[in-house]
Amino acid sequence: MTDPKVTIYGAYWCPDCRRSKKFLGEQFIPYRWVDIEQDLAGEAYVLEKNNGKRIIPMIVFEDDSFLVEPTNAELAKKLGLTTEAKKIYYDLIIIGGGPAGLTASIYAAREGAEVLLIERSGLGGQAGITVGLDNFPGFPEGISGQEFSERVTQQARRFGVEILQAVDVERLAMEEGYHEVYTSDGKHYHSRAILIATGASYRRLDVPGEDDYIGAGIHFCATCDGPFYKGTKEIVVVGGGNSAVEEGLHLTNFTEKVTMLVRGDRLAASRVALDKVNEPTSRVEVKYHTVVEAIEGQDSKLKTLKIRNTETGEAEELHPAAAFIFIGQLPNTPFLKEYAELDQYGFVMTGHDISHALRKEALDLEPLPFETSVPGIFAAGDVRHGSTKQVASAVGEGAAASISIREFLRRSEGMAVA
Ligand SMILES: Cc1cc2nc3c(=O)[nH]c(=O)nc-3n(C[C@H](O)[C@H](O)[C@H](O)COP(=O)(O)OP(=O)(O)OC[C@H]3O[C@@H](n4cnc5c(N)ncnc54)[C@H](O)[C@@H]3O)c2cc1C
Repeated sequence: MTDPKVTIYGAYWCPDCRRSKKFLGEQFIPYRWVDIEQDLAGEAYVLEKNNGKRIIPMIVFEDDSFLVEPTNAELAKKLGLTTEAKKIYYDLIIIGGGPAGLTASIYAAREGAEVLLIERSGLGGQAGITVGLDNFPGFPEGISGQEFSERVTQQARRFGVEILQAVDVERLAMEEGYHEVYTSDGKHYHSRAILIATGASYRRLDVPGEDDYIGAGIHFCATCDGPFYKGTKEIVVVGGGNSAVEEGLHLTNFTEKVTMLVRGDRLAASRVALDKVNEPTSRVEVKYHTVVEAIEGQDSKLKTLKIRNTETGEAEELHPAAAFIFIGQLPNTPFLKEYAELDQYGFVMTGHDISHALRKEALDLEPLPFETSVPGIFAAGDVRHGSTKQVASAVGEGAAASISIREFLRRSEGMAVA
């Protein structure tokens, strides 16, 4: 492991310190953390550098230079990340640098399109934070999410994709036949087509300890991580919706017993799934009115879930091999609300799923596969309604969407000439 070249001086209660730690983590930059509440020498160092003021976070770099209370944009600049595009007009702007966005960028740039990809945090998206990617074809021993992301990013750069990092897309608009993309740093760029590849985030429990054991006993995807727990005695599933029940049943393929923790008094799942849970031979036990209050670990792995029955107040500790949290996903689409058609949960509708009433401007043209209700705007990967939330499928959707985009650009060139 490489020695961290960056040190963050902060304190556990400081939200800006957490933000800076998250930002460096997303950029895969190893750092040393000094909690000045615990470390007197660290506190003295902060006071010395800031003329006696106790200002945190203070972030010290390899060359001994430092930033105090930096914004993410200031940190990005200091780390040499590209946050500003070279041009204003592009053939295609891709929003989101996860597997779907990066793959689409490779396809489009390789065919000669001028492509700008805008990513608000770490390249690789959710795949970048996956400890081990075990089910992506072509890597018989598996591959770390970070290495996978670095490889795909390198490939995109080889074909000339321009990549912005630490830049958030906040709004889209249409002007004189061009799509306009407005970013968090007050800039905007124009393009002929847009790909939305902003993915989704798993809803978290927000209890102490959860963040510390993600990937080390706390998981969000049974298809992805269930097989790591083959032969174990117990896995916990948190949630009572259809996906929690389906994933819980799937996990019985790997473990002797699945314990489901449900906040309410029932499971909200299909009849077939409920029948399976209630079968006399079922290996699923359901605890209703139960919430997780804290997660603890040992040797960097999950050890204990502290749970409580909300009716009786009774507390209990569980020691499962892993806990899978299925309490929903949040698509990253706030900037699309009232702009493109979304489903009831906020996922983007595309192709045949979109209502034709919304495509008045293009009545004569059926939406292309992956095209949204706004002609020229496409969506691929986890953000898309009906997608399967896997790296392999996000990669496939990115490739397929770029072929539709090629068709759209070809047609719009034809129209411009006519
Ligand atoms: C912990 C974990 C483990 C997983 N393990 C596996 C596994 O083993 N196998 C597997 O196949 N799948 C796994 N998955 C699922 C897989 O990672 C996703 O299905 C896949 O990454 C989806 O790719 P995507 O490109 O559609 O979206 P994402 O990977 O979510 O990427 C979207 C990107 O868009 C960016 N973005 C969002 N909004 C904006 C905005 N407004 N402006 C700019 N950028 C924005 C985000 O920062 C993100 O980088 C795992 C997921 C997690 C969280």
